[in-house]
Amino acid sequence: MTRKLLVTSALPYANGSIHLGHLVEYIQTDIWVRFQKMQGHTVHYVCADDTHGTPIMLRAEKEGITPEALIEKVHAEHSQDFAEFLVQFDNYYSTNSEENRQLSGNIYRALKANGKIATKTIEQYFDPVKNMFLPDRFIKGECPKCHAKDQYGDNCEVCGTTYSPTELINPFSAVSGATPVRKETEHYFFKLSECADFLRDWTRSGTLQAEAANKMSEWVGEAGENKLSDWDISRDAPYFGFEIPDAPGKYFYVWLDAPIGYMASFKNLCAKADIDFDEYWKKDSTTELYHFIGKDILYFHALFWPATLEYSGHRTPTQVFAHGFLTVNGEKMSKSRGTFITARSYLEHVKNPEYLRYYYAAKLNGSMEDIDLNLEDFVARVNSDLVGKYINIASRTAGFVAKKFDNKLIDAQHAVIDEMRAAVPAIAEAYAARDFARALREIMKLTDAANAYVAEAAPWVVAKDDSKAAELHTICSNALEMFRLLTIYLKPVLPNIAVAVEAFLNVQPLQWSDVGQGLGAQTIQPYNHMVTRLEGKQIEAMVEANKDSLQAASTPAKTESAAKTSAKSEAKADTPAVEEGAYISIDDFTKVDLRIAHIVSAEHVEGAEKLLKLLLDIGEEKPRQVFAGIKSAYDPATLVGRLTVMVANLAPRKMKFGMSEGMVLAASDERGGPYILSPDSGAQAGMRVK
Ligand SMILES: [Zn+2]
Repeated sequence: MTRKLLVTSALPYANGSIHLGHLVEYIQTDIWVRFQKMQGHTVHYVCADDTHGTPIMLRAEKEGITPEALIEKVHAEHSQDFAEFLVQFDNYYSTNSEENRQLSGNIYRALKANGKIATKTIEQYFDPVKNMFLPDRFIKGECPKCHAKDQYGDNCEVCGTTYSPTELINPFSAVSGATPVRKETEHYFFKLSECADFLRDWTRSGTLQAEAANKMSEWVGEAGENKLSDWDISRDAPYFGFEIPDAPGKYFYVWLDAPIGYMASFKNLCAKADIDFDEYWKKDSTTELYHFIGKDILYFHALFWPATLEYSGHRTPTQVFAHGFLTVNGEKMSKSRGTFITARSYLEHVKNPEYLRYYYAAKLNGSMEDIDLNLEDFVARVNSDLVGKYINIASRTAGFVAKKFDNKLIDAQHAVIDEMRAAVPAIAEAYAARDFARALREIMKLTDAANAYVAEAAPWVVAKDDSKAAELHTICSNALEMFRLLTIYLKPVLPNIAVAVEAFLNVQPLQWSDVGQGLGAQTIQPYNHMVTRLEGKQIEAMVEANKDSLQAASTPAKTESAAKTSAKSEAKADTPAVEEGAYISIDDFTKVDLRIAHIVSAEHVEGAEKLLKLLLDIGEEKPRQVFAGIKSAYDPATLVGRLTVMVANLAPRKMKFGMSEGMVLAASDERGGPYILSPDSGAQAGMRVK
């Protein structure tokens, strides 16, 4: 059955460059789309630059250009980067389009007619010099908790506390430096609180991955809980965006019109390609709608967006697929380590985009887990799998076909070929489930089988004996048929190599349905080498270059990251804590010296309500004295002789009752505790926990 699919990737914000972290999503979506297209389905893959909001407005001002000029420049850059990474959108548009203005206005009017829009007067920080209301990220001041200076209005980067801008000490506007004043303003709200029943059903109806559905369930709450707040969808002028139709001076918040940008990009495509827009967006549409997103914007795509669609008379998404973040060498991408790598820089140094496509595919399994780009493993894997295994099959056999058989093949037949054909359903199923890692494992297993066949048949030996020409012809024809099948399976990941193979084998663009018909007595073209080895020094140069560009780019880069997060943070009033890069590096973790401790003695402390005094042996000359707040849960006598875990390198602290020379770890929350930890048997006092 031919299906009709509309697929989107999240819209990149139009004030920064595409980097390798972004590419996880575009490559993931592109592979899935290419796979679906190869099945013969009708698939439209659309995306756009997300162009509105305060950060764009201020950045343009800083550069002395109009926001329109800024977003046009960025659009050209993004389009180029995506094209060179072989991300093949059917349309790459802009949210600052006439289609989007109309659709946003229509949806707003429909929501209003449905009683889902309300107005409320709220109080916000206002910059009296710039005459503008300030988003959280544009207010700075002293952290109310740890008193670090120069922190953003929504959270402290030193101690990690989140708070509201009104809690900052000595706040100032990051735009003008002025002290902001609090000012009342009327805002427009989408009554999300009235959508809880719908969202409870929708989020649990198979539209989300299980882990995402669980999270959304928590946010939506059980029936009668009413956990959702109304969503503030307006911003005051000056703002770069769409003015709300019946509210002069009020603009749609960027997150209102961004997802509508998916529709607008598609509408633009429909006009160019004669597609029926309504068939895809009307209520009860039988077409399919899929959104690929990062897990940090689930809230917008799994709550706001379906509710917006439902109550404006549209269909809702078939499924929303969230993925995790990218780490490089096991750590968050870092400018100081040179691992915050832009798409452009990768293309300059590594050049071949298919290496990265292959590596990401080998790591993507359809879950929300983070994926790691280990640069050493990247080089090893690309060279081993692509050059050493896959391309090798053709490069070891094609020469004989040219030299001895005038580039003609004969019918291929072999058990390995049968095995390859039989694997089709499993490979297709893995691709469809976005478990590309599993698909590639299957394919590489077959690649190994093909190489084993070639190694055993040893055409280079057979070729020396002229009486064995027929055998040589069979071996090479079989090997190239295997190579053709592997190329079909790898084509969603390696589209450029597939084109080269199609030219070499002299065949039409390969489709999934071509698996069944072999090459037969095909005349092929002379073989040209298709992939070169990746050299470690290319990676080193790339990392070096990204370190270098840091100094020069540090100022705008900072604005970028602030801006990017601000689109999220602005909605914070309505948003439960969204995961926002709350990682520590492995270096941070290993700073904590955790040790197995043997409790030598435990006793009550005269005058202390919560504390027990422990003597802990961690293999040092003399046990450490530690005061632990576990009196409420433990009788000291039961602790003596036990093993537990302590932090051994915490600075000693003078307490009322004496020195405390470390800290014992214990678990607790509102369900109970504290519970101290016990290692498995075999652990000895003094062992490092890591
Ligand atoms: Zn702080």
